[in-house]
Amino acid sequence: MIQIETKIMTRNDCYKAGRTMTPRGITIHSTAEPGKGARVWYDLWNRPASEQNGREVCVHAFMDDEVVMQYLPWNHRGWHAGGRDNDDHIGIEICEPAGIEYCGEFDLHLYNPARFQPYFDKVYADAVELCVRLIREFPTIEVDEIVSHDEGWRRGTASAHHDPEHWWHHHGRDMNDFRAAVRKALEEGR
Ligand SMILES: [Zn+2]
Repeated sequence: MIQIETKIMTRNDCYKAGRTMTPRGITIHSTAEPGKGARVWYDLWNRPASEQNGREVCVHAFMDDEVVMQYLPWNHRGWHAGGRDNDDHIGIEICEPAGIEYCGEFDLHLYNPARFQPYFDKVYADAVELCVRLIREFPTIEVDEIVSHDEGWRRGTASAHHDPEHWWHHHGRDMNDFRAAVRKALEEGR
């Protein structure tokens, strides 16, 4: 059972913009910042853009293998997709484990799936559970609208990022698998 802690980023400009939305989908991201767990992002992002080199970012939640940290109200318009998915998608960032090395913006260097499999399995299952909970709370969310940042980019509703597939593909998982897992959990009443 996932544990959700709520700690709203009230100093972030996105929160201050105060726009609400009706969630119709969920955008799944991964951070590309190995070793930074869900809790550390609060201090990094709970500040105005002027204190973050002008970066305007905020997401509804970060999750790692221990906790889901909710940083925006779920019906608050977030700044995570870099496109119109921001208007009606809840943004979830999956934290990447310490030890992953990058050799390009979305290229992992000598990735060893076996080493990270336990972490991957936990966050993947927890992300499924979180999506199920969100769908129960917001029946306006459609499973088909649970998309990755990469899928949003491919269809023109998000910026050119390739998370989390750039990481997941090393574990043989993609968003079709993920949506199927959410559907199954919903059907089984989990
Ligand atoms: Zn992303």
